[in-house]
Amino acid sequence: MNMRLSRNEMRGKAQTVLGLVDPATLGQTLMHEHLFWDFIQPGRQDASTTGGPDPRDYWKLLMGGTADPRDIRQRDRGVAARETARMVEAGGRTIVELTIGGIGPDPEGLMEVSSESGAHIVMGCGHYVEDCQDPDNHNRTIESFAQEMIDQVQLGAWRTQVRAGIVGEIGCQWPWTDLEKRVLAAAVIAQQETGAALTIHPARHEDHPWMLVEFLKEHGADLSRTIIDHIDRTIFDDDRLFRLADSGVVLEWDLFGLENTYYALADIDMPNDGMRIQTIRRLIDRGHLGQIVISHDICNAIRLAEFGGHGYTHIQQKVLPHMSKRGYSGDEINAIMIDNPRRLLTFV
Ligand SMILES: [Zn+2]
Repeated sequence: MNMRLSRNEMRGKAQTVLGLVDPATLGQTLMHEHLFWDFIQPGRQDASTTGGPDPRDYWKLLMGGTADPRDIRQRDRGVAARETARMVEAGGRTIVELTIGGIGPDPEGLMEVSSESGAHIVMGCGHYVEDCQDPDNHNRTIESFAQEMIDQVQLGAWRTQVRAGIVGEIGCQWPWTDLEKRVLAAAVIAQQETGAALTIHPARHEDHPWMLVEFLKEHGADLSRTIIDHIDRTIFDDDRLFRLADSGVVLEWDLFGLENTYYALADIDMPNDGMRIQTIRRLIDRGHLGQIVISHDICNAIRLAEFGGHGYTHIQQKVLPHMSKRGYSGDEINAIMIDNPRRLLTFV
C-alpha cells in the first residue's frame, strides 16, 4: 500500500507515473495526449481491436465517415511505447496523458511505456464527459469526487500505486450537465488541496469556455493554473478569445495535426496548423505568451505513426520549424513548449 504524499513533499516538484521529479528535467512537453483510450460503448466490448485500423480507411476515419473499433480503442502497450520513443527521438521529453475515468486509464501501462521509452509521463485524474462515465457516478457527491481526485494525486489512481500529476481532463458536454458540474467543483477542491494544475475539456459550444471561467471564479479556482483545452474547435473570434485570455486562464491548442476543415464532432470549420499559429501569434502580441500551451490530443489509432498518421512527433518535426519560419523567436517557442508546461506541472 502506498503512503500518502503530503502537500509539502510535493511542492516544487512535478509528479510523473514513476514518481516525483525535478521540474527542470521535463523539457519539451506535450500537454494533452492519450496513449491508451477506449471509446467503445459498453455492449460492444467484444469487438476485436488488435492490429490497428486498416490504413485504406484513413481518409474516411479522419473525416468521421466511418467507425472502426480498432481506431477508437488503443490498449496495446507495445504500440504506445514505440510511438512515445519516436517522440523522444524527435526531441520531446514529456507527455501529459489525460485518459481518465470513463475512457479506459491504464496507469501501469503508462509506467511501462515511460520505462521503455525514456519519456516522462504525467497522468491525469478525475472523470471525462457524462456520456462516458460510470452510471454509478450519478449518485455521488462533490465531496466523494473531490476525495477520489485528491487520493489519485497523493496515494494512487484506479486501484494502482501510480499517482496523478494533474487534475483532468475534466469533461463537459453540451448542454453542460449537473453531474459534470459536480465533478468540476470537486476538481477545483482537488486543485486547492493538492497544488496540482487543472485541465478542462470544454463543451463544444463557443460560449462554454466563458461559462467555465465564471464557474471557476465562483468556486475559487486558481485561473493561472487552469487550462481550457481544445480552443481550436471551440473559439473562432478574437473577442471571445481575448476576453478569455484577459481572465488569466491558460489556453490550449491541442488539435495540432488535424488539418482538415471537416470535424465529425461539431458543425465548425476546423483550423489547420497555419491558422493555429497565426491565432497564437495574435495572443502573444497582446502579451499572453505565458498562457499558451499546445499538443495533438491523439485519441484515434489512425493518427499514430504506426498506422499512417503523424504520431506524437508532429509538433517537433513540423509545427515548431513552421513557427520559426513564421517569425516565432526561440524564447517564444521555449515558453510554449518548456516554460509554461513546467510552471503548470510544478506543484504549488
Ligand atoms: Zn483529450
